Amino acid sequence: MTGLKNAKRIVFKVGTSTLTYSTGKTNIRRMAKLVSVLSDLLNQGKEIVLVTSGAIGVGVGKLGLKERPKDTPGRQAAACIGQCELMFMYDKFFSEYSHTIGQLLITKSDVENDERRNNLINAFNTMFEYGAIPIVNENDSVAVEEIVYGDNDSLSAIVAKLIGADALVILTDIDGLFDGNPQSDIDARLIPVVDEITPEIKALAGDAGTNRGTGGMITKLNAAEISTGAGIDTVIMCGTDPTDIYKLFDGHQIGTFFIGKKGDNNG
Ligand code: GLU
Repeated sequence: MTGLKNAKRIVFKVGTSTLTYSTGKTNIRRMAKLVSVLSDLLNQGKEIVLVTSGAIGVGVGKLGLKERPKDTPGRQAAACIGQCELMFMYDKFFSEYSHTIGQLLITKSDVENDERRNNLINAFNTMFEYGAIPIVNENDSVAVEEIVYGDNDSLSAIVAKLIGADALVILTDIDGLFDGNPQSDIDARLIPVVDEITPEIKALAGDAGTNRGTGGMITKLNAAEISTGAGIDTVIMCGTDPTDIYKLFDGHQIGTFFIGKKGDNNG
């Protein structure tokens, strides 16, 4: 039986293409809906972490730039600006439901350093004790090429593993993993359940991200490989209508469900 009915600690990941319009401006309606669903799950007693992209995309929109800067300092500056705007919006929307958020900006070196990793875990756990929602992004303004995760799909899986999450839900702009390209092949079918991420499964991922975000299906499969390897059930589903998240917790089939490997490998 797949479904996340019994999951208590859940990491959600939302990408730039879900959070912004092609103009680069924030999709306020979608963000508001997402926050309302997550707030409702919190009210049920679940512990939620939101890994959000959008800092660079929203910064680009706010600055009125025609495209993402190609140079690192340009992207870092855009992230500084967009991150503020993102957190302002999340704070405003979550406050409407009397929920408290906190920001965690993470770099790869924070996770790889024992002391900083422990500090991070302590911060997450104390946030949960306070009933607050950790909102996570990569610290794009200081993460340079050599130390960057680069995509929040991987970051969300690392975070899920770090905090011993029960589930990871990656929201994207297609319905899940297909056995062909749904944009060009009308016979392409959604794969409802994957019990092992084999090279054949990976070969099904195209490599396209959007010009607002990064990633594409392959980074999501890489993330699912990390999380399922740590025993964490993982779902890739469409975030266009965030109320679809309810279906997942009502035990209905939605998106592609990657079964977490249960056993002694949850390290
Ligand atoms: N951390 C980047 C941002 O907030 C996004 C990375 C990604 O697209 O996965 O803009």
